[in-house]
Amino acid sequence: MKLTIRTTSPEETTALGEELGKLLAPGDVVALYGDLGAGKTTLTRGIAVGLGLAADIQSPTFTLIHEHPGAIPLYHIDLYRLSNEREAESLGVEEYVYGDGVTVIEWGEKVQSILPAERLDITVRMTGDTDRELTLETESERLSEAIRGLVRG
Ligand code: ADP
Ligand code: MG
Repeated sequence: MKLTIRTTSPEETTALGEELGKLLAPGDVVALYGDLGAGKTTLTRGIAVGLGLAADIQSPTFTLIHEHPGAIPLYHIDLYRLSNEREAESLGVEEYVYGDGVTVIEWGEKVQSILPAERLDITVRMTGDTDRELTLETESERLSEAIRGLVRG
């Protein structure tokens, strides 16, 4: 299942993330792709809200993994500064991915080989100053149904 959604403001991207967050379940993995400033963190902020968490989602300083405890915990992993896959290993990225929370990984391409096949991939493209194109793609039946729900609204 693959579909594209366009947004025209950061608020709209956050709202989309919120709707998505409501549809996610423990163990889900969302891998985000796209240039710096595309809107990956903005989308993640919405996902946190949708999971019922405070939206204190930050871009990374030097911490690559932020744990947000809650009924369904959110593991927000931002690998922008990751130098190699060995470093991902020592950070324990794999344990988060196969853990009980929802894991959202910015720069998912940096750990492609450890990501489960049953994940949700989202590529964010800048198509204008405040225009973004988000392509959602998944091989998972359940996540396919979830993202169909996003379009139906
Ligand atoms: P990334 O995590 O991909 O580097 P951020 O989410 O941190 O990107 O930053 C996205 C930037 O783009 C923010 O400054 C945000 O306000 C701006 N922006 C403008 N339009 C949009 C949009 N439609 N969706 C998301 N962000 C947008
Ligand atoms: Mg970011």
